[in-house]
Amino acid sequence: MKETLRNLKRVYRYGKEYKRALIIQVICCIVGIAINITVPLLSAQFIVAFTDSVFKQAIFMALILFGLALIDAVKTLIIRKNTQIFRRGTVRNMQMALGREILKLDQDTLDKNSSGTFIQRLTNDTDKMAGMFTTGMGKMTGFLSNIGSFVAILVIDYHMFLYYLFASIILTVLYYLKSERVGEKDIEFRKQSDHVAGLTGELVRGARDIKMLYAKDSFMKELNRNILLQSEKNFEMRNIDMELNLLIDSIKYLFEFLTVILLVYLVTHNVFDIAVGVALYSYRATVLTDLMGTVSSLLEECKSFNISTNRVFSIIYSKKFKKEKFGSKHLSNVKGNFEFQQVSFGYSEKEVLKDLSFKIQAGTTVGFVGKSGSGKTTIFNLLCKMYSINNGKILIDGCDINELDEKSIRKNITIISQNPYIFNMSIKDNLKLVKKDLTEKEMEEACHLACLNDYIKSLPLGYDTMIGEGGVNLSGGQRQRLAIARALIQKTKIILFDEATSALDNETQSEIQEAIDHLKGEYTIMIIAHRLSTIVNCDKIYFIEDGTIVDSGTHTELLKKCRSYKYLYESEIKNNNH
Ligand code: ADP
Repeated sequence: MKETLRNLKRVYRYGKEYKRALIIQVICCIVGIAINITVPLLSAQFIVAFTDSVFKQAIFMALILFGLALIDAVKTLIIRKNTQIFRRGTVRNMQMALGREILKLDQDTLDKNSSGTFIQRLTNDTDKMAGMFTTGMGKMTGFLSNIGSFVAILVIDYHMFLYYLFASIILTVLYYLKSERVGEKDIEFRKQSDHVAGLTGELVRGARDIKMLYAKDSFMKELNRNILLQSEKNFEMRNIDMELNLLIDSIKYLFEFLTVILLVYLVTHNVFDIAVGVALYSYRATVLTDLMGTVSSLLEECKSFNISTNRVFSIIYSKKFKKEKFGSKHLSNVKGNFEFQQVSFGYSEKEVLKDLSFKIQAGTTVGFVGKSGSGKTTIFNLLCKMYSINNGKILIDGCDINELDEKSIRKNITIISQNPYIFNMSIKDNLKLVKKDLTEKEMEEACHLACLNDYIKSLPLGYDTMIGEGGVNLSGGQRQRLAIARALIQKTKIILFDEATSALDNETQSEIQEAIDHLKGEYTIMIIAHRLSTIVNCDKIYFIEDGTIVDSGTHTELLKKCRSYKYLYESEIKNNNH
């Protein structure tokens, strides 16, 4: 109960602006409760008047009942409309807030959780949470109506009150036990649903690689296994629900039968007359069937609401989902100098970077070379503060990266990876993402520098061409050049190219190279390259091995003093000649 109240408060925060709709809903519910309590009494009076042949009174009672039924119908309509307003508004606000929260998570948390975890919470769970204010509210009204009926019964006859109370308690306990059992199974089912959603996401995003790896069968085997497990969990949950419902229904019918026996006994022993007996019998429907049904489904609703709310709010409040932390210092004019001071870092226990120190001057172009897995990309990730370091310091323009605010870091550094993420929007919208008020001139200039303007212009829809689903598919090189244009528009001071040219043909490589050359001098550029030809002109090259810098210098210097570098360069020339 405490948990439900806490969660209700949390959810209400997102629906505060629809307070009016909620208040109208509550007033209508109170009207509904009053009607529910009085109708059995009036119905009994009608039956008695009718059977006693007092027709005038019978018609009068029927008229009142008709009036109440009309009010009830109008009230239901008002409740439904206002519920929709509150529910839709709250879900919308929660989804927007959750989207923002997901983007605040640190990279390590995002790496460790499947996308399904977040997608399910953003869609299904938020919807289920808001359901508490619709179905939950309806059930609460039913519950309060029944409490009112109990009070009415107590006023009429305490024998029947005690009997109904006893029966209700037994049924309540049974329903509670049922909801506990079903709740356990529901948690298992939802966990499994997360797995399936995660795998389906990978199926869509990774379809190309799954096909190319000829791994359709093994991927589908895994997906099918998880879908089967999900369906089994669902089946188990529903089975338990149905079986326990049958048991509880049977007990309820037994209580109904006992009600009749007890009423007959009390009437024949003159405890009350038939009219009162009829009224008490009319309440049976509300206090036995509905009360228990409502209590149980209200409990189930609360349980389901709490499960969903805890899942959604764990993203916001739980320590399991770590947030990125930034400092408060703002660098308004980043020059692009940076320095690693004895930096050590590992994604897990194992250290990837060991006591790494180097310094890069603003406006220079620096290359990083080394075997795959030596830690080059990790250096880039740390520089963007995608992960936090364990030891040492990273300085941008002399300021500790941990003291800088998000904008000073992210607005000034761009990573252009081998396969940059291009959004499923038009080319123009992709570029506008980084600058809302982007002008046509700026856009074309950036794309011209990135050697992409001519290609875009050759497309029938030009900059309005959609990319991805339902549009054109850009090649690896074109994606990279679009990412370069994005960086140019963003005017980031530091541009990091991660193996940007390794997978490209020579022609594309030279275009990328030309695009990079356009940036030299004005930007601080770091390049990770497999092909040394991309970095021979760099001002400085660092040779990385096993997370440490083993040598550094210009290309000519390294050829002279670093045997590993020389070996790498010579084997590349040999390969090119073949
Ligand atoms: P490089 O760019 O030189 O090929 P990386 O910096 O990508 O090397 O990787 C260095 C090491 O860190 C590798 O052993 C790699 O498996 C590991 N690694 C990279 N990214 C992650 C990650 N997100 N989680 C755990 N380990 C990682």
